[in-house]
Amino acid sequence: MKTNIIYTCPKCGADLRHICITTYPGIDRIECSKCDWYYE
Ligand SMILES: [Zn+2]
Repeated sequence: MKTNIIYTCPKCGADLRHICITTYPGIDRIECSKCDWYYE
């Protein structure tokens, strides 16, 4: 079970989208839909 998932951008408060980049190794990335903030 995952905890500590961020759903809003800490910079601008906009909605975040969760992206799974299917390369190897796979990257789980959360990025903001409005500004350039992201978390890997
Ligand atoms: Zn943002």
